[in-house]
Amino acid sequence: MQLEITLEGATVVLLGEADASRQALLRFRRAGAAVAHFDSAAAFMAQAGSPAHPALPARPGLVAVVGSLSANGKHHGATNDDGEWAPVVDHYRRAGVPIVREPAAGARGHVTLVGGGPGSRGLLTVDAVEALRAADVVLFDRLAPWRELERLTTAQLVDVGKLPGHHKVPQGEINRLLVEFAKAGSNVVRLKGGDPFVFGRGGEEAAACAEAGVPLRVVSGISSSIAVPAAAGIPVTHREVSHCFTVISGHAPLTASEHEHLAGLGGTIVVLMGVANLPHLASGLRRAGMPLDTPVAVVERGHQAGQRTTVTELGRAEADTSACGNPAVIVIGDVVRLAGGAGRAAEGRGFHDLAASLLTA
Ligand code: SAH
Repeated sequence: MQLEITLEGATVVLLGEADASRQALLRFRRAGAAVAHFDSAAAFMAQAGSPAHPALPARPGLVAVVGSLSANGKHHGATNDDGEWAPVVDHYRRAGVPIVREPAAGARGHVTLVGGGPGSRGLLTVDAVEALRAADVVLFDRLAPWRELERLTTAQLVDVGKLPGHHKVPQGEINRLLVEFAKAGSNVVRLKGGDPFVFGRGGEEAAACAEAGVPLRVVSGISSSIAVPAAAGIPVTHREVSHCFTVISGHAPLTASEHEHLAGLGGTIVVLMGVANLPHLASGLRRAGMPLDTPVAVVERGHQAGQRTTVTELGRAEADTSACGNPAVIVIGDVVRLAGGAGRAAEGRGFHDLAASLLTA
């Protein structure tokens, strides 16, 4: 069931301990409501005397109780006993006022590293959405699903992908900001693209928090290394086609021996941050003996507007991908042939036909 109530100009009676209510208060104010907040039943009685006190509207638009509902439907306030709000809530319920539960705000002085997935709202995890909702400050960059943030959180948003002068914030400065915001008492979310621990420098941010004694939680995300090939219909493994996949960073050029090891594995190679170095990688893999007709796909802006897949072969990858740009995931290996709508599928065969033909080849 989804109820829609317009809160613009309405009075909301918000019941909950001050700290736990801080984000619900912001949410209701942002929705245009006038909020009458009480942080304890005693405060309610002292200020209002009774629910029928003239200082309160007899029928507010909404009553919101901060806390969570346990599995048996019993209400747990963040710091209040279950029963504390019962007389107030019962009064309003009898008056026909809708009652909602609002989640308690996150703990203060805490950092959560959140993997935001490859950029679409649908690939945020439930834990990621909950962490964003409980945050006071969110530090994000442009690989994360940042366009959705205004709708997902009341937190202060800090774009660390760019400074006001359009420069990327250096990693050391991001680490410092995380610690500083947490020490100032905020619940801080660091929202990262994909998974925080896959080339995301999440490990460095975690270390900075540990060093400063700031509690840290990690919410894993859906990594672009798997989800972006999938967006182009490419499975990174497939029975009897590829039984392993190696995820590498294309940021720093590989050595000759690394090219040989990669080529020797015979599985799928997934390259992140690799567009600029693709010519070096392709020539290195050819020198290491990888067949020239090994399929290569470059998937740009996976799961985002403007997603584009370019399919080619190792022998002519440089020329065919010269127009490709970041962000992109490169996939090298026979699984590329399984792509729906790409490669051999472009010849009119669907995924299942392709899989069948590969298996019987
Ligand atoms: N932690 C991230 C990766 C960070 S490195 C993860 O797990 O996905 C950044 C690289 O990820 C980009 O250069 C690009 O190679 C890849 N990437 C991230 N999101 C992408 C997207 N939506 N489309 C294509 N490539 C993406």
